[in-house]
Amino acid sequence: MGRLDGRVAVVTGGSRGIGRAVCLALAREGADVCVNYNASRDGALGVVREIVAMGRRAVAVQGDVGVADDARAVVERAIEEFGELHILVNNAGILLRGSFTSIDAGELERMERINVGGVIHCTEAAAKHMKEKRYGKIINIASIAGIGTAVEGTTPYAMTKAAVIILTKRYAFELGRYNINVNCIAPGYVLTDMTAAGRSREEVEELIRVASQKSVLGRIGRPEDIAGVAVFLASDEASYMTGQTLVVDGGRIDFLTHSL
Ligand code: NAP
Repeated sequence: MGRLDGRVAVVTGGSRGIGRAVCLALAREGADVCVNYNASRDGALGVVREIVAMGRRAVAVQGDVGVADDARAVVERAIEEFGELHILVNNAGILLRGSFTSIDAGELERMERINVGGVIHCTEAAAKHMKEKRYGKIINIASIAGIGTAVEGTTPYAMTKAAVIILTKRYAFELGRYNINVNCIAPGYVLTDMTAAGRSREEVEELIRVASQKSVLGRIGRPEDIAGVAVFLASDEASYMTGQTLVVDGGRIDFLTHSL
C-alpha cells in the first residue's frame, strides 16, 4: 500500500527535471497525477506513459502557469479528469541570469510572472476546491537562493524565490483553518536543464565539482532527492507541519558556517 493511495496531484512543470521526478515519486506512492507542461509536450507525455505503466492514472496538460487563465484551466482539468484534487506541487520555474543593473526589464517581468505569479494563480485555483473539501497539501519549490546564497547573476531569481517562501507562510496562515497544509522545499544545486543549459560540458563538470565541495555530503543533488521530500510533505505523515521551508541541499558548508 502506497502512502498516497487514492490521492490526486497536480505538478506544475512536470515534464522535466525536478518536476518529472516529483510526478514519478508521487505516482509510485499511489497518486494519480496531472502533469503540467508549457513547451515540452513530448517530455510530459513520456512522464504520463511511465505513470500509466505503474498502474496509476495520469494526464498531460499544457498551460503557462504565469498566465492566470492557463493556471486555472490546468487545475480545473485535473479535477475534471480525476474528480478531485488533494495535492498541488508548484514546481514550474525559470532562471534568467542577470544582476539588477543588467537584467532586461522584460526578462525580470517574465521570471516574476512564472516563478511568483504561477504559484499565486495555481494556489488560488487549487485552494478553491481544497477549501470545500477541507483537505489539501500544497508544496512550493523555492530555492536556497531565496534564503541567501551569494551566487553571481542570480539576484533577481533569488528575489522571486524569497517571494515563494513568504507566500508559503502567508498561505499556510490563510488556509490552515481549512485543513490545508502549505509547505516549501528549498533545493540546493540539482543537475537539471536549468543548471546545465547554456554551459559546455567542462563548465558543467566544474560547477558540479565546486558545488559538491560546498556540501557536507560531498555531492550535488539529484531530482529524486527533492522528490522524496515532496512525497513526505504530500503525505499525512506531515499533517502537523505547515508554513515550513525544508532546505534540501546536502548540507551546504557555506550556509552552516556562514562563510564563503
Ligand atoms: P528545469 O529542468 O528547467 O525544468 C523546469 C520545468 O518548469 C519544466 O518542466 C518546464 O516545462 C516548466 N516550466 C517552465 N516555465 C513554465 C511555465 N510558464 N508554465 C508551466 N511550466 C513551466 O528546472 P528544474 O531544475 O527542474 O527546476 C524546477 C524547480 O526547482 C524550479 O522552480 C526551480 O527554480 C527550482 N530549483 C531548481 C534548482 C536546481 O538546482 N535545479 C535549485 C533550486 C530550485 P516546459 O519544458 O514544458 O516549459
